[in-house]
Amino acid sequence: MFKEARIKLTAWYLLIIMTVSFLFSGAIYRVLSIEVDRFARMSQIRYQRDIERIDLPIPAKIRQLPIFSDPELASETKQRIKFVLIYINGVILLISGGLGYLLAGKTLQPIKEMVDEQNRFISDASHELRTPLTALKSSMEVHLRDRKLTLQQAKKLIRENISDVNKLKTLSDALLTLASFEKRKEVKLSGKVNLSKLVCECMEDLEPLAKERHIMFKSNLGSFSVWGDMHKLTELVTILLDNAIKYSKEDGLVSLKIRAEKGFVLFSVKDNGIGIKKDNLPLIFDRFFRAEEQRNTIGYGLGLAIAKNIVELHRGQISVESIYGKGSTFIVKLPQNKFS
Ligand code: ADP
Repeated sequence: MFKEARIKLTAWYLLIIMTVSFLFSGAIYRVLSIEVDRFARMSQIRYQRDIERIDLPIPAKIRQLPIFSDPELASETKQRIKFVLIYINGVILLISGGLGYLLAGKTLQPIKEMVDEQNRFISDASHELRTPLTALKSSMEVHLRDRKLTLQQAKKLIRENISDVNKLKTLSDALLTLASFEKRKEVKLSGKVNLSKLVCECMEDLEPLAKERHIMFKSNLGSFSVWGDMHKLTELVTILLDNAIKYSKEDGLVSLKIRAEKGFVLFSVKDNGIGIKKDNLPLIFDRFFRAEEQRNTIGYGLGLAIAKNIVELHRGQISVESIYGKGSTFIVKLPQNKFS
């Protein structure tokens, strides 16, 4: 499809270039033909004027000899001009054909990347949705076929189904959030957000989850603000905190820190949990990436992809340092002031 579009675009480039080139060649040919005729006429007039000035007896035959007004010479000159112009147009056709093909490739490359990316997203998303939907369908079918199904069993099934549907809803919400970043220009960053306060609120919200796993929070948040969107920043902090809790061992410690540096605010979340393998570090922010050993924990591998999108929306950077088996530190760098 890409090749076909590239050839079509090259053909359009060529059509435009060659139309302009032929129009110019026609105009040049017309002007030069007029000039050749004019030159022939002028030369004859001048020649006759010079002959008349000579006082010697010149035979009448010589006097009237037309040198430049020779119609054959004029038409030969025009033929040559035509030939040169056709030759030049041929060269233009070849060069612009090659360059047009290159340019068409360059023009279409970002579109190709976008389409590839979208196709990958659709197939990844359908794959993620298909597995739980198939499980849901088969469990319902099995129970439906069971003639001895009691009310209690039916209620249990419905409860399980509701929990699966909730997971699917979480997945579809995450997919929608990711898709919304494609329209990032429409997202307005509302203004100054007190990041320290926001992090504090997120900590309070996740406190019960941390307590469940006997995980302690330690914080040094100061008072720092950044330019951004409060809801998106809350989502970002929640994702990082949630992961720090999820991937910590029981009785772990999660440290949160905020500091300022050259117009930026640096927010870090450090845990002493399971850590990330070195090979996985470059993949950690990719959509649907989950480390092999975490396949049994709840999640779809979309959290960090969303976090990265939020940070980029705020013209910031996100990075991770980790030692496998010892823990990870996620660092987010956000501009303090409004960016243009
Ligand atoms: P999810 O947590 O739903 O799987 P994420 O995108 O948030 O999706 O994370 C992707 C993967 O990165 C996780 O599956 C896990 O392997 C790894 N990961 C993220 N945060 C941490 C962390 N704090 N410690 C160890 N591994 C992590």
